[in-house]
Amino acid sequence: MHDVIIIGAGPAGLSAALWCDELGLDTLVLEQKTQTGGQLHSIYGAIENYPGLRANNGHEFFERFAEPASEADYDLWTGVEIETVDLKAKRIALKSGEELQAISIIVGTGVRRRELGIPGEKEFAGRGIVESASRDRHSLAGKDVCVIGGGDAAVENALLLADNCPTVTLVHRRKKLKARPTFVGQLQNQHCITVFSESAVTRILGNEEVEAIEILRKDALKPFQMAVRGVVIRIGVEPNTELFREQLQLDNQGYINVTGQQETNVANVFAIGDVSNPLAPTISGATGAGATAAKVIASRLMG
Ligand SMILES: Cc1cc2nc3c(=O)[nH]c(=O)nc-3n(C[C@H](O)[C@H](O)[C@H](O)COP(=O)(O)OP(=O)(O)OC[C@H]3O[C@@H](n4cnc5c(N)ncnc54)[C@H](O)[C@@H]3O)c2cc1C
Repeated sequence: MHDVIIIGAGPAGLSAALWCDELGLDTLVLEQKTQTGGQLHSIYGAIENYPGLRANNGHEFFERFAEPASEADYDLWTGVEIETVDLKAKRIALKSGEELQAISIIVGTGVRRRELGIPGEKEFAGRGIVESASRDRHSLAGKDVCVIGGGDAAVENALLLADNCPTVTLVHRRKKLKARPTFVGQLQNQHCITVFSESAVTRILGNEEVEAIEILRKDALKPFQMAVRGVVIRIGVEPNTELFREQLQLDNQGYINVTGQQETNVANVFAIGDVSNPLAPTISGATGAGATAAKVIASRLMG
């Protein structure tokens, strides 16, 4: 029996674990990946908005962020697959057969990139469909590329690629781009960027690597093909809440509803970080929520 089991070892889970350890709670952290740090490993630009810690990219940030964990005394299991969670009973069954029990559970499972679910998306991942314009701009240099999405991340990626690519096609579903006005304003000065509004990419085509995309415009009956050699998909994120869907109150996008003390609708079950914060996902928000959950749990256990 553990005092606390934390699911997810991103910034939120790692912060909660540090605080639980400091407060003398017997703590186990379960992480599905083989490394901790969550989305930090997907940040290829500089992080300049976390007080006291500046870094050139997420990996560098993580190295320093995770430093105190090496001194801490909580259990961390990585590469763990959870089969089922019974939140009321605080029981977790792992695919490996182990059964775990706790007094409190903290959910810090974060978010993942939303997928298009179109033919070619999985087949060409890493073979023309790249993870990030910032990370992969050298491999895309000199190529015609397409960015899919209309938010900040999509427009930022298109602007980055415009420096090194002859043409950048930005395809998005809405009438107007959702990105912040400063990004949209910069698009007007980039003559190599073409924006297709009210349009969807319906297929990604190629042989060994991406060679073309198929675009369907709102009023058109048939899609048309466009030759591109690189694709960046940035259509937002979705919360990792499948395991808890039947047990926790979620908002209409699947994020976990919490109180100001990070409590969910199930007693002694807390949610922290991006998985419960659709409007303001940040590292500082995640670490703060982790600290709050740990302190609330400790104060209750101590009576
Ligand atoms: C490109 C990019 C740039 C960003 N830039 C900034 C920035 O400059 N400043 C800033 O403050 N924030 C930035 N962010 C946001 C920041 O990274 C997130 O707010 C933060 O990582 C949220 O932490 P988290 O722990 O809640 O979730 P995550 O980082 O998503 O971590 C969740 C963890 O839970 C694990 N997990 C999921 N499901 C399970 C499961 N079933 N079992 C076990 N483990 C599970 C995941 O593998 C992951 O390790 C950026 C994000 C991105 C993608």
